[in-house]
Amino acid sequence: MDDKLAIVEEALCISCGVCVPVCPVDAIEPVLMAKKADFSKYSGVWVFAEQHAGKLRPSGPELLGKGRELADEVGEDLCAVLMGKDVEALTGELSAYGADKIYMVEGEEYENYSTEAYTTAMVTLISKYKPSMVLYGATHLGRDLAPSVAGHLGLGLTADCTGLSITEVEGRKVLLQTRPAFGGNVMADIVCPNTRPQMATVRPHVMQPLEPDENKNTDIIQNTIRVSSDAIKTEIIEVLEPEDTGEISVEESDIVITGGRGVGNDVESFDILGKLALAMKGTVGCSRPIVESDIMPKSKQVGQSGKTISPDLYIVCGVSGAVQHRVGIRGSKYIIAINKDPKAPIFEMADFGIVGDLKKIVPLLTDKVAEKKNSEK
Ligand SMILES: Cc1cc2nc3c(=O)[nH]c(=O)nc-3n(C[C@H](O)[C@H](O)[C@H](O)COP(=O)(O)OP(=O)(O)OC[C@H]3O[C@@H](n4cnc5c(N)ncnc54)[C@H](O)[C@@H]3O)c2cc1C
Repeated sequence: MDDKLAIVEEALCISCGVCVPVCPVDAIEPVLMAKKADFSKYSGVWVFAEQHAGKLRPSGPELLGKGRELADEVGEDLCAVLMGKDVEALTGELSAYGADKIYMVEGEEYENYSTEAYTTAMVTLISKYKPSMVLYGATHLGRDLAPSVAGHLGLGLTADCTGLSITEVEGRKVLLQTRPAFGGNVMADIVCPNTRPQMATVRPHVMQPLEPDENKNTDIIQNTIRVSSDAIKTEIIEVLEPEDTGEISVEESDIVITGGRGVGNDVESFDILGKLALAMKGTVGCSRPIVESDIMPKSKQVGQSGKTISPDLYIVCGVSGAVQHRVGIRGSKYIIAINKDPKAPIFEMADFGIVGDLKKIVPLLTDKVAEKKNSEK
């Protein structure tokens, strides 16, 4: 209110219309809502670069890879946002992965993630520098931070995207966000044409990082944003790191050998996959029914409601290839499918298909790999 007059700041108005009926003196005219917002001040494709204990998470470099493509298409800078305590050493990596600028926020309050401190910092940075797009990894942290920022700024947010590109809406270049919908049966294309920045979380391992360029020049912009400890509602007593089992996770392994219902319905039946994985230095994954039958932990599940993976080689045994499974493996370089049903949908996306009984084929494959390894010694 300014001298009893309602002033609507256009830069902040998202044309939702909520203020019109609730204003007790009918001071706000809907005509403002119809006015096309001016986004000319918004520029820059931002990537939230997640780090933990001073190490960059893979989602940052992956999103910078896709971000480069988007930024070039709209003619804007590609920028990384880095928060933490004493994390300046990570700027070299972010620069090499393609960031033109890095916005940094450092301090005690950013050592461990808290919704309040990180949201305050993101909201402050976005309000100050006005990016046109902000991308976050759909990690535990990203899934908490992005909706909190969207809520504070009244923005749209598309969660869990598997594809990003640029399209045109009413003569403006906008971010086209693609994600599975209706149980993975359709891929929905979503745009947020009426708000800036456009924000999305993206599943880890869907996008590919660029080849690092150690000679890239990057501007580093330091920001001091203090958040009082009273504003942070959680107290961190101890940080427990996950137990190191020595096994590479399905998301990180270059070779993943997945078993479905065709392998069997007990733990022992999966031993043949374990042996092949051992011989190939790979990791065993599974389809959803295998998790539901308590044969493998959820961390091994590949697909829409499990992990999205992009290994160099994906060997998929006794999996029919339901769309919910396929959506998680599209980033794989090579897919070899083994199934006794020649009409199984998994063959539609496999580079190589073997029709037959996996119980005979997998041990043969394991022997061949071992033979080859011995001959190379
Ligand atoms: C909302 C939602 C989310 C979902 N998320 C996921 C997900 O993240 N991941 C996922 O995997 N599923 C998911 N599903 C389940 C999915 O729809 C399928 O039901 C599931 O993928 C099927 O698992 P499967 O291929 O192992 O089993 P089946 O569909 O039963 O296929 C078994 C296959 O094994 C073959 N076979 C049998 N015996 C042999 C043999 N001896 N040798 C060779 N081949 C053999 C058969 O020909 C068959 O093709 C989801 C479903 C919903 C509704």
